[in-house]
Amino acid sequence: MTHADTRTINVNGRSYRWPDRPLVVVCVDGCEPDYINQAIEAGCAPFLASLAQRGTCLTADSVVPSFTNPNNLSIVTGAPPAVHGICGNFFWDPDARAEVMMNDAKYLRAGTILAALADAGAKVAVVTAKDKLRSLLGHRMKGICFSSEKSDQVTLAGNGIADALGLTGMPVPSVYSAALSEFVFAAGLALLKRERPDVMYLSTTDYVQHKAAPGTAAANEFTAMLDRYLGQMDALGATIVLTADHGMNAKTDALGRPNIVFLQERLDQWFGAGTTRVILPITDPYVVHHGALGSYATVYCNDPMQRDDAAQRIAALPGIEGVYSREQACATFELPPDRVGDLVVVSERLTVIGTSRDRHDLSGLDVPLRSHGGTSEQRVPLIANRPAADLPQRRWRNFDAFDLALNHLQ
Ligand SMILES: [Zn+2]
Repeated sequence: MTHADTRTINVNGRSYRWPDRPLVVVCVDGCEPDYINQAIEAGCAPFLASLAQRGTCLTADSVVPSFTNPNNLSIVTGAPPAVHGICGNFFWDPDARAEVMMNDAKYLRAGTILAALADAGAKVAVVTAKDKLRSLLGHRMKGICFSSEKSDQVTLAGNGIADALGLTGMPVPSVYSAALSEFVFAAGLALLKRERPDVMYLSTTDYVQHKAAPGTAAANEFTAMLDRYLGQMDALGATIVLTADHGMNAKTDALGRPNIVFLQERLDQWFGAGTTRVILPITDPYVVHHGALGSYATVYCNDPMQRDDAAQRIAALPGIEGVYSREQACATFELPPDRVGDLVVVSERLTVIGTSRDRHDLSGLDVPLRSHGGTSEQRVPLIANRPAADLPQRRWRNFDAFDLALNHLQ
């Protein structure tokens, strides 16, 4: 194997070789491995199917909480949340005594591989579906960075591109649509042709995955769409690595009704209202398709003496998979201790955690609830369009995507 450029960059304690051809890293939001498997079985994904012969296919573990922002930031920093600091959409700020949104770049504690490559002279482009990720992914990065959601509001100064809508000819998609993700791929393909960036990061939204199970018509249509775009990028000579921020599971009983543990209600019954605070870090401004219900919660106890009692009682609730102290959770899931509560609670595959009944609006759910957040949504694909030589035997993570691409592919 020859690698023409001997430059390397170091980011967060890891070393990466310089890309020797355009690299496209794709994070398909909510892409349980079975979405791809079922689409291949149905004959909808010929490009992905072809990778069995000529590519690399690993199954990797995402970060827990298996939510969008912690995992996207892990992928672009090559590091877990203990390093980059982003462990959810929300956290409880004890100083401000408020639930604070964590999608501001001021909460980011590590530089990204994208910014480091750009600083070293690489041409870098980032396209995300939802705008909530854009400022985090593009933090201190020279290059192109915009979202489908606000593709009509880009500026050369702010986004590195003067006209994003003109790239695709597509209208600005609705934030609740499959088109929001298609726009990401269409813009990425156009950028690859026009700008030929050294590195591109494309991140979609899980609108389809929240509604449609693997193998269903809507899911296969989505995978067929991304297969067409990736096939064209492959034909243009790009290295492609596809991974996901998390998987996705039905969170319902046999009749399609959601299995919900209303954790704040239970804690209030046991210890009295106002003595504990349940934070659901899945909560974000776009809750229509999951009602802010996921399989991960963190709990703050006013009285530290209550912690062990609370942990035992929560662990005994049906549907709960694990209860961790802050120290255990941070050690197990590599989380930043100052942004995690006294307890971390993870529910089982078919169950989600809520606060109290009156704080979840499920009226927007037009299909049985599908969601994520727990260890049951941790397995994700890590797939490349080139073979790898002598892959190390290790626990592959989705945040090894750039390591696989730049250090291991032939
Ligand atoms: Zn996601």
